[in-house]
Amino acid sequence: MSDELLSPPPPAPPEPCKTCGKPPDLCLCAELEPVRTRLGLLILQHPQEQDVELGTARLLSGQIEGAVVKVGLSWANLAKALGRSQADPRRWGVLHMGSKEDVAKVPRGGIAVVGKNGPLPDSDIILADLEGLVLIDGTWSQAKTLWWRNAWLLKLRRVVIHPDFRSAYGTVRREPRKESVSTLEAGAFAFGKLEGDPGLQERLLQPFDQLLDRWKKRRRRPHPPAPAA
Ligand SMILES: [Zn+2]
Repeated sequence: MSDELLSPPPPAPPEPCKTCGKPPDLCLCAELEPVRTRLGLLILQHPQEQDVELGTARLLSGQIEGAVVKVGLSWANLAKALGRSQADPRRWGVLHMGSKEDVAKVPRGGIAVVGKNGPLPDSDIILADLEGLVLIDGTWSQAKTLWWRNAWLLKLRRVVIHPDFRSAYGTVRREPRKESVSTLEAGAFAFGKLEGDPGLQERLLQPFDQLLDRWKKRRRRPHPPAPAA
């Protein structure tokens, strides 16, 4: 038999990663090192979140031991969303991309539990006693939908951050506001603060830089030669 007859069929297009949904050249799942944190993490993702290539929810969840990611529109309560028999909503915070006014009331580079009139006086005590954080992943309107559909989120502590950095999405995507950061950046900032580990934020952010590098490389295709004048 000739070698030609034994040659394998052409390879099928690569399957997206079953965990992060990204094409293999953008998947970083195997490189993520989960860290043990005091706080738990629950990420709620709208089923229509379309940002497969640049989405960051799985980059965060893959780095926090025991993190739970739920894709859907509604869950009966916090415990159900977490897949536990019980959970105390007063000891969980939900990261809220508050209005400009909300954010402005939190010191730059800070994190606070807010009520109707801004940060609560006992914000630091509540934060120190939290069991976990909920992050909502999706566009602004998708996040709004999840808030509406999950009234139990209102029982959680509303946590607002005032980031002191610009999102690394930078040139690759236009965000609606300058404070607006990716799910990973928001989570890394919050975990860095709440875990009392100054290096944690940077460590959690590293895979995001890698993702953006890979994404930019894959878009840098050779230009066809310019037509002769
Ligand atoms: Zn993956």
